[in-house]
Amino acid sequence: MMEEKKHIAIIGGGPAGLESAENLFDLGYKVTIIELSDSLGGKLNNWHRLFPDRRLSKEILNHLKNKLNRNIQIFYNSTVIKTTRKEDKFFIELNNSSSLECDAVLLTVGFDLFNASIKEEYGYGIYDNVITSADLEYLFHANKPLLTKQGKTPEKVAFIHCVGSRDEKVGNIYCSSVCCVTGVKQAMEVKQLLPHSEILMFYMDIRMYGRFYEDLYLEAQEKYHVQFIRGRLSETAENIDGSLILKADDTLAGCPIKVNADLVVLLVGYVPSKYCSSLSKMLHIKCEKDGFFAPCDTHTDRNFTGSPGIFIAGACTGPKNLEATLADARSASITIHKYLLHVPVLEQINKVG
Ligand code: SF4
Repeated sequence: MMEEKKHIAIIGGGPAGLESAENLFDLGYKVTIIELSDSLGGKLNNWHRLFPDRRLSKEILNHLKNKLNRNIQIFYNSTVIKTTRKEDKFFIELNNSSSLECDAVLLTVGFDLFNASIKEEYGYGIYDNVITSADLEYLFHANKPLLTKQGKTPEKVAFIHCVGSRDEKVGNIYCSSVCCVTGVKQAMEVKQLLPHSEILMFYMDIRMYGRFYEDLYLEAQEKYHVQFIRGRLSETAENIDGSLILKADDTLAGCPIKVNADLVVLLVGYVPSKYCSSLSKMLHIKCEKDGFFAPCDTHTDRNFTGSPGIFIAGACTGPKNLEATLADARSASITIHKYLLHVPVLEQINKVG
């Protein structure tokens, strides 16, 4: 008699969900993706080019979608409203009256972007020409012209680092790790589009974590003449023509500065997905003090929650670039495979205590 395939439910159909779904399917499991929206791919859908090689995001998105086996079941526009556990099985109820029974659950709910309007002093949602890095990326992605709200080509564009990250006032003291490189990439893209524009970057310190990221930083200065000013923005105000006045402390020169800009881009950081909190309560798993899911062991068991059968991958465990997200998803697939082979189950249960 053929043994019935073990079933894994993946909550979240972004890059981590897609990568792990395909790997788990290849390992011989039945896989179901539960996706909140009506499409797969998450935030990659609205992103234009990736760093460090400026590859089009849609190439990666298409790669992830195209290799997805058609026998993987997908629930769109779906959220989990209830989970029940009986011995080794999970029973999951969805908002659309569907339900499923599975042997393991993988959470790949990704991240949210910091709501820039919380930093009122920066003027997002108040002044027309203050936008976020996600807004700018969407303009590139949609091939829309880069103009001020008054229809003018911006002559001076200012990027503001660490918006919603490394900021005790908003309760996020962690670094989001990818917004420095995002800003540097976007600064060069603006300069390519508008060669006569002047680009200013207001930073606390530059953190170019990944391989070849530092090359982008050098290229931005040497080839595109992007100006880096070490200082945190204290206030934005609007001129009568819609341009902006930025006040900051230049911490290298040791003096306050005031500059005008036609467009301000806020490099918004990662915050935990709102589903981290609700799923942690529903599934009785832990979040860290930053609100992202807590792994069982930071060094040796990053994809296991400590609760048998429940696993985590991708940016729901903290800020990550796409490479790290996909690698984490593959790692989670192997962790789940080993769990379902019952090799480490007793060990894991013992860890939980
Ligand atoms: S990556 Fe850069 S901009 Fe983002 S939080 Fe860290 S230091 Fe700030």
